[in-house]
Amino acid sequence: MRAKLIAGNWKMNLGKADSLTLAHDLIHKIPKHSKAQVLLIPTFLHLDAVAHVVAKSHLLLGAQDVYFEKTGAFTGEISAGMLLELGVSHVLIGHSERRHVLHETDAVLNKKLLAATAEKLVAIYCIGETLQERDAGKTAEVLQHQLKAGLVHLSHDVIEKGHLVIAYEPVWAIGTGHTATPEHAQETHAFIRARLSEILTPELAAAIRIQYGGSVKKSNAAELLAKPDVDGLLVGGASLIADEFAAIVQAAG
Ligand code: PEP
Repeated sequence: MRAKLIAGNWKMNLGKADSLTLAHDLIHKIPKHSKAQVLLIPTFLHLDAVAHVVAKSHLLLGAQDVYFEKTGAFTGEISAGMLLELGVSHVLIGHSERRHVLHETDAVLNKKLLAATAEKLVAIYCIGETLQERDAGKTAEVLQHQLKAGLVHLSHDVIEKGHLVIAYEPVWAIGTGHTATPEHAQETHAFIRARLSEILTPELAAAIRIQYGGSVKKSNAAELLAKPDVDGLLVGGASLIADEFAAIVQAAG
């Protein structure tokens, strides 16, 4: 059974006080015995403070990015080891804003994925097509390429340990209010799992969790999560509102 993973990506939002308030509120609003794993992903700057709030709670802590080197002259970057030290267990890799706004390449993302999983962080590898790619009928090609290029040299052991999660986030759905229909999400997740089965093995593909992300709200979470290949949600805007995010988690059962 693939445990559902519901993650809130706070992006470059919320000051320190608001981040701490949101984390406190979520600890109280999300039931301890919720079936889903719940992950909060604040900005790097507030990771340490949020880590103190969620320590010993039922909520997990994630980072929005990681650098692939362990240490050295890499101004502005943060290593997997540094994240671990703060109590971070999960990290986003290749979020569409990093691919398209900050122009991170597949080769760089692959290095990040290998570095993060080598330190035993759970890597949430984000993939998704742009509107232009979708309109050109290139969705399958783009997703297949992102999977192949991103997962090069990833050991099967890492996957067996559950340290790889895929997030399917169609770029046209992120922050736009245009959510993929549950049917579209299921069809695409099944396609992704079939490609994972070819790249890896059918057994490993069956074990990998595939999250959906793109304008998820409490009103559409349950129908997305009801689909057999939707193993969780990556939530941006709606994760900044405690009641809304708690309701999304509740939809996971
Ligand atoms: C995201 O940031 O990964 C995301 C899906 O954002 P939103 O939910 O706001 O579309």
